[in-house]
Amino acid sequence: MTLISNHMPTAELQALDAAHHMHPFTNGNELAGRGARVITRAKGVTLTDSEGNDILDAMAGLWCVNIGYGRDELAEAAARQMKELPYYNTFFMTTHVPAIALADKLAKLAPHDLNHVFYAGSGSEANDTNLRMVRTYWAQKGKPDKKIVISRKNAYHGSSVGSASLGGMSGMHAQGGLPIPDIHHINQPHWWAEGGDMSPEEFGLARARELEEAIHELGEDKVAAFIAEPVQGAGGVIVPPETYWPEIQRICDTYEILLIADEVICGFGRTGNWFGSQTYNIRPHIMTIAKGLSSGYAPIGGSLVCDEVAEVMNDCEFAHGYTYSGHPVSCAVALENLRILEEEGIVDRAGAETAPYLKEKWDLLTDHPLVGEAKIAGLMGSIALTPDKSSRAAFAADAGTAGLICREACFGNNLVMRHVGDRMVISPPLVITKPEIDTMIERAWRSLDQAHARLKDEGLMKAVS
Ligand SMILES: *Cc1c(COP(=O)(O)O)cnc(C)c1O
Repeated sequence: MTLISNHMPTAELQALDAAHHMHPFTNGNELAGRGARVITRAKGVTLTDSEGNDILDAMAGLWCVNIGYGRDELAEAAARQMKELPYYNTFFMTTHVPAIALADKLAKLAPHDLNHVFYAGSGSEANDTNLRMVRTYWAQKGKPDKKIVISRKNAYHGSSVGSASLGGMSGMHAQGGLPIPDIHHINQPHWWAEGGDMSPEEFGLARARELEEAIHELGEDKVAAFIAEPVQGAGGVIVPPETYWPEIQRICDTYEILLIADEVICGFGRTGNWFGSQTYNIRPHIMTIAKGLSSGYAPIGGSLVCDEVAEVMNDCEFAHGYTYSGHPVSCAVALENLRILEEEGIVDRAGAETAPYLKEKWDLLTDHPLVGEAKIAGLMGSIALTPDKSSRAAFAADAGTAGLICREACFGNNLVMRHVGDRMVISPPLVITKPEIDTMIERAWRSLDQAHARLKDEGLMKAVS
């Protein structure tokens, strides 16, 4: 048997990968044609690939490595737990110390009375839990018809059948018969692309009031909950106008529906506070968590649940759970991650020092001829690529053509920045330093220059008419 290792030539690894590994959100033939980039190790904010390139990871993996790569303490926490108790379940009236300790820690960190956690293995699973929980909650309260969940177009809530239905990604709904029934999508607060002649403030109010209109249209007695990310992540780091969340909160307070904040990205420091709900002054009944909870070192997600909902749920046996709900190794890793984020002041520093510095530098990108708006929420950000800043025009070419060209340029400059359509997004590890931010901005600028030159050469700097 050949030993597959980091020492194999890249081309051989790529061939084996293409032969046997089906990648998420990837065209397999296209990937086989060019070969996957093989990442071999990482430290801090820097990835190393099999060709020895050092790459600045401005995406923290998939928005998750908040603490940065290479923290031995987390590896040691996992090894300790694996030796002591590698697995036991939390079904059938049993529990274990890592699940208890993490639940206690989360209750202390979470705002308001989100004092209870239902564990899952991922964000998708946690949102499936939420979908079933809010419907079961209303059934328990004698209102089984309250089962519609209102969500938003271009929201991302995961990739399982339930969570992808909650999400509003048209490309995902086009495959496999989604969404499932009783999920209703309203429009997103994406001023740059959809705001027309309104000011951002007017537009934020208008989009929030679509929730109220939907509740009237569907019937308050039919609506169970509204789910939203405080800042849409995968949708393109859409930072809502300031008027949006206060109006959503007013509507949720007025009508008898539950508010679910999907904090899978926003949680654990991303927006400059521990939770996005604190940044935007939201009071959710349920909060979805994953990603930064363990900084991606081990798979874990969960639903933080308020006292009132937990009390009602505790009156029944909720016929739901995952083999890996409260996995002891993942809980131990998450607990160590939270300890370090807190004790080393990583979240506090991200909010007080790093975020303002990043915003100052990021905003300068609007001086580039290819860039329309630049948005920052804590340590997540986006820029809109446009052929015409003054009219906020989209490109005449298919959405994502310019974004892809820019992302390829970034890769060429050893910078991981993602594109969502023709928006470029970042979400670096919270430990990124000021000099590393300077490097990131330099590489982004150079990549924008190269993308701009290529778009001009190919006649793609045309606005949609
Ligand atoms: C990533 C993400 C999810 C899904 O989490 P997985 O761990 O990939 O299942 C859900 N909601 C949001 C906001 C996310 O960004």
